[in-house]
Amino acid sequence: MSMAHMADGQSQPLDETLNELLRAMQTAHLRDGFADLALRCDRLGRIGAMVRENQNTIIAAIDADFGGRSREETLLAEVFTTLSSVRHAKGGVAKWMRPRRRAMDLAFKPARATLLPQPLGVAGIISPWNYPLLMALSPLVGALAAGNRAMVKPSEFTPRTSELLAEMIAKKFTADEVAVVQGGIEVGAAFAALPFDHLFFTGSTNVGRKVMAAAAANLTPVTLELGGKSPAIIAPDANLDVAVTSIVRGKLFNAGQTCVAPDYVLLPQAQLDAFVEKALAVAVRFYPDLADNPDYSSIVNQAQFDRLQGMIRDAETQGARVLTASVGVGRKLPLTLVLDSTDAMAVRREEIFGPVLPVIPYGDLDAAIGHVNGGERPLALYAYGRDRANIDRVLRSTISGGAVVNDCLIHAGVEALPFGGVGTSGMGQYHGQEGFETFSKLKPVMYQSRLNGMWVLNPPYGAKAKALIKLLLKRP
Ligand code: NAD
Repeated sequence: MSMAHMADGQSQPLDETLNELLRAMQTAHLRDGFADLALRCDRLGRIGAMVRENQNTIIAAIDADFGGRSREETLLAEVFTTLSSVRHAKGGVAKWMRPRRRAMDLAFKPARATLLPQPLGVAGIISPWNYPLLMALSPLVGALAAGNRAMVKPSEFTPRTSELLAEMIAKKFTADEVAVVQGGIEVGAAFAALPFDHLFFTGSTNVGRKVMAAAAANLTPVTLELGGKSPAIIAPDANLDVAVTSIVRGKLFNAGQTCVAPDYVLLPQAQLDAFVEKALAVAVRFYPDLADNPDYSSIVNQAQFDRLQGMIRDAETQGARVLTASVGVGRKLPLTLVLDSTDAMAVRREEIFGPVLPVIPYGDLDAAIGHVNGGERPLALYAYGRDRANIDRVLRSTISGGAVVNDCLIHAGVEALPFGGVGTSGMGQYHGQEGFETFSKLKPVMYQSRLNGMWVLNPPYGAKAKALIKLLLKRP
């Protein structure tokens, strides 16, 4: 459903139209009863079928939106990942839905207790442009597995993919089951102000703040999947070839437009020159030529391209050394290493979200840990090294949304691992069972036994009640 289309010939204000859609979903949710296992699996199956049937159209839409998006990257990071989240949820949902037995305190025995997972109702999902299919569908999989209905607001910066998403969803789902609402900031703001049962936002930290403020008015719980500066720390004992290859691969995937891309590198001063030489060589080996290279993705639009160029210029003007692996073509930006950067530069203060990589030398590992802890809490941290003690020190003395040892990015594709940030990189988590739980109410239910001792506590409190209370207080 496009708000632009809806506005034609209609005088109804935007928020009223969106409210009606939400009310229709909430009514249907209560009218039809909470979704059972068969319906949840069927809905998940529809997402899977939709992606499989439209695979080539999806690849073409994202390619057109980016003005060049690698087919293999779309297959890996949008199609494969979405299908694997569907497969994982279909395989797990029967178990996740089951009431979960909890231990009973001796004082309340023989009563029993369980947690009963229930759908929250109608979820709102707001998604960004960088992985326009996955970022819309992956939370939707969690919402549907948990038995909810959902409204999805994809990014205005990938309009072909958003339109395709709306068409595909409309073919597979009724309008009161799942709906796609298209539009930009105005629609996003109206969307975030709706009284959803849960609001799931993926995007920038700044917009995340606005979304949470809007949700607060309705006391709508939020999950915020935000960005930030994810460090790659190379320990002194690391295999430098392994580290460089992994960091360059992770940084250049989707041209660095990945929330968990390594934002900058911290490495021992002594390895700086070797790192630079190897990184530039690996980038050229991976992408010998950027012109017409089908493997290398473009920066999504001119505004993002200009933002990155501005960051590079800002670093240069302030005295940084900038080295590029090859020559950029159109909106294809080569790997750009930034050396001698300072805290005053935008590359060190803002999330980069492109193939620009500050390389920052450290004196000892504690200084690297101090650097990370001196900044905002990152979405991911990558630690490269062979010595277990070094790796453990890094992992235990820093906090991040997730971490990978001796590689980067890959944790985001593992459905059995929860995914989410901490601090300014986000709150809440999803993927797999945690995604199911994000969109569920785990309702504690106690079953009182026919034979129980509650009668002892009937007022007026006599000797038996007092003796029981004394006994309860005596427990260690
Ligand atoms: P963005 O925050 O600009 O936009 C995200 C979505 O929010 C879009 O659909 C947009 O239309 C909508 N929006 C804009 N203003 C709004 C408002 N006032 N109220 C409600 N919605 C509004 O982000 P982006 O530029 O599309 O994406 C890039 C950012 O997303 C980066 O910071 C990146 O790190 C982050 N990201 C995070 C994850 C994650 O899983 N943590 C994944 C992908 C991207």
